[in-house]
Amino acid sequence: MCAAFDLATLRRQAPEVEWLDDEAQRKRASRDFSWFSPVLKRALDCARAEAVARPADQSQALAVIAACARQGVPLTLRGAGTGNYGQCVPLHGGVVMDMSRLDRILGIADGVVRVEAGARLADIDTAVREHGWELRLMPSTYRMATAGGFYAGGFGGIGSIRYGSLEEPGNVLAAKVAPMTARPEPIEVRGMAVRDLYHAYGTNGVLLELEYALAPCLPWVERLYTFAAFMDAARFGHALAHAAVDLRLLTVLDAPIPPLIGLEGKVPDGQCAVLMVVSRTGVEVADALAAQGGGHLAFEQDHAAAFGTARSLIEYTWNHTTLRALRRDQAITYLQSDFPPGQALELVEAMRSRYGAEVLMHLEFLRRGNVPSCAGLQLVRYRSEARLREIIAEHRAAGVYIADPHTWLLDEGGRSNPGQMALKRRFDPHGLLNPGKLTTDGYEGLKP
Ligand SMILES: Cc1cc2nc3c(=O)[nH]c(=O)nc-3n(C[C@H](O)[C@H](O)[C@H](O)COP(=O)(O)OP(=O)(O)OC[C@H]3O[C@@H](n4cnc5c(N)ncnc54)[C@H](O)[C@@H]3O)c2cc1C
Repeated sequence: MCAAFDLATLRRQAPEVEWLDDEAQRKRASRDFSWFSPVLKRALDCARAEAVARPADQSQALAVIAACARQGVPLTLRGAGTGNYGQCVPLHGGVVMDMSRLDRILGIADGVVRVEAGARLADIDTAVREHGWELRLMPSTYRMATAGGFYAGGFGGIGSIRYGSLEEPGNVLAAKVAPMTARPEPIEVRGMAVRDLYHAYGTNGVLLELEYALAPCLPWVERLYTFAAFMDAARFGHALAHAAVDLRLLTVLDAPIPPLIGLEGKVPDGQCAVLMVVSRTGVEVADALAAQGGGHLAFEQDHAAAFGTARSLIEYTWNHTTLRALRRDQAITYLQSDFPPGQALELVEAMRSRYGAEVLMHLEFLRRGNVPSCAGLQLVRYRSEARLREIIAEHRAAGVYIADPHTWLLDEGGRSNPGQMALKRRFDPHGLLNPGKLTTDGYEGLKP
């Protein structure tokens, strides 16, 4: 509960804005998908906004910012609320501002789309497709997630095998951002500086508009190969990621995972699966490399026809793998890891044999600094928080980078940087944006 809260004054100062304050609405707007982590679920479940603001346009959003800043009320931004780390959970109450009505697509030209922050990625992709372009990067939640929520809370996903993460220079070109002040004057941030707003959980400015660079739309096909041995599947993924083949997605799942996530109709029992979105020109190479490792094509479908539906293989990858597994078995949680290029396959093999059925291998191939590399979203059979912490520490000790998905603290998750903090001092001088998400924001260690 925030001490300064007075909804009547907020309503008076931003009278055109739709304000919601009944318990069910406040509860719904205070949640995301942090329940994937038993640790976060326990810690964040009771956090509640005291009111929800639903601005219809940018001037109303600025009125909400001004009213909250004048009263010293915490402000937490919300796109679609699909984040996994409690990013949009208002730890210290105050106002949640739902950005989803700021959803205009402002322009598409020369391989760049400019959108308002609340525009849904699926709608943006549909719009740019008419011009022969597609989004370079999307989370597997693209049907719900917003442009602003993805940049402030996401990482990458579909397309990361070609374009890396949102952080790579050139993927996001500019942002219009409002400071958390009583007279918020939006400013345009361009070039390298825009990366200071990336993955900052809305703690250092309110994104109003973004410019995303686009990719030429290719004729894609979704394919699923099966392998008897996991390391053959992983080596196939590694070889394909290094080939001159256009890919949008390349996922490797260990044998126990397909039946856990609803792929039992496509993957025979005991087999490992490699899921991909590959350009039609790359299909022959994929077949040849799969055959070398004893792999077989088990399923294929046209990507454009499946895109935007739950049938697409996209919705069996990235954290949709975890979501589907959790629906069948609530004792599951997950890790987020990066295997260093050069040593990736050795470390994957070592970690897999170390943990057996306790940690199931789910690999996503991607580029880091334009180098093919591989990340893990391993499914973990949860026993206790102590055991989870032990597994994380053991991975780190073995040289596997872990971005901890079991903390709501941005700087503990491992993706904060000094530029973000400099912007925070400039755009949020009173520490009102999403307080409690940084160990250095004056709300250190506070739980809801
Ligand atoms: C099943 C599942 C699969 C997922 N797969 C992926 C994946 O493949 N790749 C990936 O990167 N992530 C993935 N995620 C995480 C999440 O879906 C994405 O990060 C998504 O892009 C978040 O978008 P959103 O609109 O829901 O953001 P929200 O969850 O609403 O917000 C995310 C963060 O951004 C902030 N924010 C929102 N709008 C603004 C704004 N206008 N200005 C400033 N800050 C703002 C919020 O305060 C919050 O801190 C997955 C999650 C689930 C549940």
